Amino acid sequence: MAEKKSEGQKLEEKLLMRSKNLGEADGSLLEKALGFCEEYKKFLCNKTEREIVDFAIPILKKNGYKEFQLGKKYSPGNKFYMDNRGKALVMVTIGKRPISDGLRIGVSHTDSPRLDLKPNPLFEDTDMAYLKTHYYGGIKKYQWAAIPLSLHGVVSLMNGKTVKVNIGEEEGDPVFCVTDLLPHLAMNQMKKPAPEIIEGEQLNILVGCWPFKDEKVSGKVKLNIMNMLFEKYNITEKDFLTAELCAVPAFKPIDVGLDRSMVGAYGQDDSACAFTNFMAEIECKTPEFTTVTVFADKEETGSDGNTGMRSFFFRDFLEDLVSAYGLQVRHVLKRSVCLSCDVNAAIDPAFGDVFERNNCSFLNRGPVVSKYTGSRGKYSTNDASAETMGFLRNILDEAEIPWQVGELGKVDIGGGGTIASEISLHNLDTVDMGVPVLSMHSPFEITSKTDVYLLYKAISAFYNSELEKK
Ligand code: MN
Ligand code: MN
Repeated sequence: MAEKKSEGQKLEEKLLMRSKNLGEADGSLLEKALGFCEEYKKFLCNKTEREIVDFAIPILKKNGYKEFQLGKKYSPGNKFYMDNRGKALVMVTIGKRPISDGLRIGVSHTDSPRLDLKPNPLFEDTDMAYLKTHYYGGIKKYQWAAIPLSLHGVVSLMNGKTVKVNIGEEEGDPVFCVTDLLPHLAMNQMKKPAPEIIEGEQLNILVGCWPFKDEKVSGKVKLNIMNMLFEKYNITEKDFLTAELCAVPAFKPIDVGLDRSMVGAYGQDDSACAFTNFMAEIECKTPEFTTVTVFADKEETGSDGNTGMRSFFFRDFLEDLVSAYGLQVRHVLKRSVCLSCDVNAAIDPAFGDVFERNNCSFLNRGPVVSKYTGSRGKYSTNDASAETMGFLRNILDEAEIPWQVGELGKVDIGGGGTIASEISLHNLDTVDMGVPVLSMHSPFEITSKTDVYLLYKAISAFYNSELEKK
């Protein structure tokens, strides 16, 4: 017989919060997450926003999505998508309620920090050929040296055609790398502050060292590399000027830990959210409210550009959608709710002093809901209202999905933002939700499989909820 609970224990249960590793209460959770995360690892093999859009569209078609038709009045259960330049994507499932009752929107970003090639990247030095890069997003530059890198992107040719480049991902492909200095000679380097250990102009990618055999040519190694690129992709050096190429870590997504409880991979910020958002969207049959799922580009560089969330493409699309019903987008957005799905920093005991333990997120405690992000005195953030937080809490608690809160770190220790602030500009109630990540923005980010799985359950619950916003 169970011991009788004391008065204090009863009060404790009723009044106090206690957050703990979800595995303690439900040992089967990890098992449920395993299969889901096998699919997640496949998604992670797509390492750029373009590759994710290319991967998603055939799956959308298989699941009954058609290209969006301007002026069409859709019926409940209809599914369609809009591809913005192969780099951003909007996916919709029409709900039972009229669109005038508002939308349930989920936005995640599909770009991740990386090394973009400069417009004129190829050079030869000391009988070696390199590609010059300009880093994209917030990276610790030293982390990108001495790891295998793969090349991804597109080249726009004179004949109007675009060729896709992908080298270093397939079995048997060569990889590339930025070199680092041996410790024996690094006495001065090791005294430098971390941002200068490897400087921006040292992020040159080694691509070859074998010469083209012709005495009359000066840059023989460079010519040999260009010749190989020409043979494989039909590109000349001038075509780099009209290309978008980048280098990303060549690591494959892989299980981490003897218990296989974690995923290690490049780009989990924000593919952890993009994948879960995507799965929740395609599995929506006939939701109560119309769901809108967005893959946004350029988040890591401030959401600028016509494929980022500061672009009008999102609002223009919604305007096209709702005008078929004689509605104004501003009236629809006012009644809508949006999840800005992005990752947060999981507490890491190796760096415990930057986290505030009562308000940071932990691995294995479920999706992390962030009322605000930003920095210093809450600058540059959407600060979700109590009512919006309450709306989401109702949905998650009713669906019995455990969740946690998460501030990015201690006050005044740093900070960062998400696209929630771009979204809420549209007079749209928005709240951040994602998974906690270790080593965020590094070439090898870590998430807990259970958190990824529960984020999917949480977004699904949000999409399928009948709860009306007050
Ligand atoms: Mn992110
Ligand atoms: Mn990020």
